[in-house]
Amino acid sequence: MADQLIRATAADGGIRAVGVITTRLTEEARQRHNLSYVATAALGRTMAAGLLMASSMKRAGSRVNVRVKGDGPLGGILVDAGLDGTVRGYVGNPSIELPPNAKGKLDVGGAVGKGYLYVVRDIGYGYPYSSTVEIVSGEIGDDVAHYLVNSEQTPSAVVLGVFVGSTGVTAAGGLLIQVLPKASRDEALVATLESRVASLAGFTPSLQAGKSLPEILGELLGDMGLRIFPETQILRFNCGCSFDRVLGALKILGEAELQDMIVKDDGAEATCDFCGNVYQASSSHLAQLIVDLQAESSVTR
Ligand code: ZN
Repeated sequence: MADQLIRATAADGGIRAVGVITTRLTEEARQRHNLSYVATAALGRTMAAGLLMASSMKRAGSRVNVRVKGDGPLGGILVDAGLDGTVRGYVGNPSIELPPNAKGKLDVGGAVGKGYLYVVRDIGYGYPYSSTVEIVSGEIGDDVAHYLVNSEQTPSAVVLGVFVGSTGVTAAGGLLIQVLPKASRDEALVATLESRVASLAGFTPSLQAGKSLPEILGELLGDMGLRIFPETQILRFNCGCSFDRVLGALKILGEAELQDMIVKDDGAEATCDFCGNVYQASSSHLAQLIVDLQAESSVTR
């Protein structure tokens, strides 16, 4: 099954539901960054959460940045997800492994630790909207729900799941259920959502069993007037980095530093944090940047 996102409503449009399957893109991130089991789960959950959060944005080109900055051994998570279904991300220490937690599951909370969750919503113009909440459990799903409820005042439930076996990611995905603003004063509906949170735990076993998103949503919300939108959006791991951007970043270092790189290293090597791609700039590339800088400064003089 391809990675995908589907949208649905329930309770006469008072509830919005979004589901994502992110198995392949999580496996791609695992391979790109050489992630351990627990790091795969942590990054995979955060990427699914980012895609779920981006799905509510309206303007084409909108993106969400999710930064989890905890004091645990994982050393932080950064994810960039777009309304267009693209996502990328990385963790501070990709190789750390921890013993399973008390429930026998990957100890994402222990790897993340205590600290803060930062979210930036960028609609492509003006100042991005940013907000911060304290990390609740470090398990990501709880933390994102806490953020949506407290910072965006939207009653929300989030479940995320990543299953990693010896051959890689076998299943990954997530589910976001929200009471829409127009219905958020409807206390009965908010109470219904809260009462459903326990049953949403059925999401991850269904995900692991390979059920489709419509099947899973039907199991969880089928008795609440579920309406699934016919469009399925394709999701993928994608990074906007390029050799030209790397050259642009090198140029900012200035003439003296570029000259130094030519003399000492005969070029420069840059690795993209988000996707792990390695870019090699030769001495002649760097020399050209110096020529460009000199031309620009003579124009502005
Ligand atoms: Zn990249």
